[in-house]
Amino acid sequence: MKKGKKLYEGKAKIIYATTDKDLVIQYFKDDATAFNNQKKTTIEGKGVLNNRISEYILSNLSQIGIKNHLVKRLNMREQVIKLVEIIPIEFIVRNVATGSLTKRLGIEDGTILKEPLIEYCLKDDSLGDPLISEEHIYAFEWANKKEIEKVKKTILRINDFMIGMFRGIGIKLIDFKLEFGRLKTNGKNEVILADEISPDTCRLWDSVTDKKLDKDRFRKDLGDLIPAYTEVAKRLGILHEQSNVSAVNVTKLSSVKKKSK
Ligand code: UDP
Repeated sequence: MKKGKKLYEGKAKIIYATTDKDLVIQYFKDDATAFNNQKKTTIEGKGVLNNRISEYILSNLSQIGIKNHLVKRLNMREQVIKLVEIIPIEFIVRNVATGSLTKRLGIEDGTILKEPLIEYCLKDDSLGDPLISEEHIYAFEWANKKEIEKVKKTILRINDFMIGMFRGIGIKLIDFKLEFGRLKTNGKNEVILADEISPDTCRLWDSVTDKKLDKDRFRKDLGDLIPAYTEVAKRLGILHEQSNVSAVNVTKLSSVKKKSK
């Protein structure tokens, strides 16, 4: 299987064709964007960490029977994934109220939700990914009822698994975003988990100190994003080296680990 031409470039990732029509390569960039692209920068080493963290979470989800697009990680920044037709909806899952939810509804930041809350946003940058209801999804045929029922069940399983996984390493899973896609097999469509799960797409707070270990460090200008993502990777057991690894060291560590595999 060989890497082909660029098919799509998003804010944090690039998708390349391969010689296998069912597989594509997902490349993790170092670019960080927030507030619908109004705030942008490059953070050296971010793509390497997200590639590793997302690989770890998605392979663990596979092991508990949650089908997803990951085939294998190729190198520091790339993974082979199954080509799916992305459902144009961002599925937001919340355990604790923060971010846009608190602003929109005047809910106190940090309020623990009795049940996980699923919200739907239309994936459309030009509209600023607006919040939509389940009825909008059916009215405009972005997905059908059967697909959404399956997605909702899968989301709750993913949330349960991830809450436990992060709790075990002293991290609270506050909220996160998921994307799903349609995989065509033998002429039939199956909805599977796609995209990435990383500190770019989750809010992760230290269980004891509530320190933010996610992209809010960039959104809120808190600094030290790479040490925070490195801390998540280290606690997950992906990186074993000392704390406060610099971006350059992260790059080196990843190549060392790859060679030793
Ligand atoms: N999120 C994401 N991509 C988006 C929007 C949200 O990964 O385009 C994630 C975000 O990192 C957070 C969760 O979804 O973990 C809920 O985001 P919220 O709507 O509060 O986002 P905000 O508007 O505060 O960035």
